[in-house]
Amino acid sequence: MNFKLLEKRILEDGRCYAGGILKVDSFINHQMDPDLMMKIGEEFSRIFKNKGIDKILTIEASGIAPAIMMGAIMHLPVVFTKKKQPKTMDNMLVSNVHSFTKDRTYTVCLSADFLKKGERVVFIDDFLAYGNAARGIIDLCRQAGAEIAGMGFIIEKVFQGGGDYLKSQGIDVYSLARVKSLDNCKIELE
Ligand code: 5GP
Repeated sequence: MNFKLLEKRILEDGRCYAGGILKVDSFINHQMDPDLMMKIGEEFSRIFKNKGIDKILTIEASGIAPAIMMGAIMHLPVVFTKKKQPKTMDNMLVSNVHSFTKDRTYTVCLSADFLKKGERVVFIDDFLAYGNAARGIIDLCRQAGAEIAGMGFIIEKVFQGGGDYLKSQGIDVYSLARVKSLDNCKIELE
């Protein structure tokens, strides 16, 4: 997978923080570049077009932009899991996710009305690090009886091992940019 436009942007505008954190606030995580996001949606659509997907699953907030772009192109519904349990949601599926960037565990939940037995889903997110968010999604899909057709990430930090874990679970993982190292605050791509 070779997505030069994204790689160039990461190298030019990405910033490293201690503890292996990459900030891409100026074009993905805070201020967003819709043209780049559309291209990301197109790339995910191309990758997953023959996988017989019924819907796209993501986690609020940063996964929503790439997921909605992909959903618009593929004409598929997009469901985002919520981090706060709404009082008005019945029939709720819940799992726990540990966030290493925030160093806390949060719940992810979604209504079982929007994830049904036998549905084939793709999970889209901004980052793949240790794979904790993805584990929460695997758990929710297991509870619902839904099938994971694959997972797509804008940026994978390869050195944190989430990709290896997901592949060991038999999941097809696609990342548009792969970061090999953030050592000495230098962004090194594969
Ligand atoms: P994981 O669950 O795979 O350990 O981490 C992925 C989640 O944590 C993503 O949803 C993302 O929001 C956040 N995350 C992990 N690493 C980074 C990072 O280097 N930068 C930013 N901005 N978010 C990250």
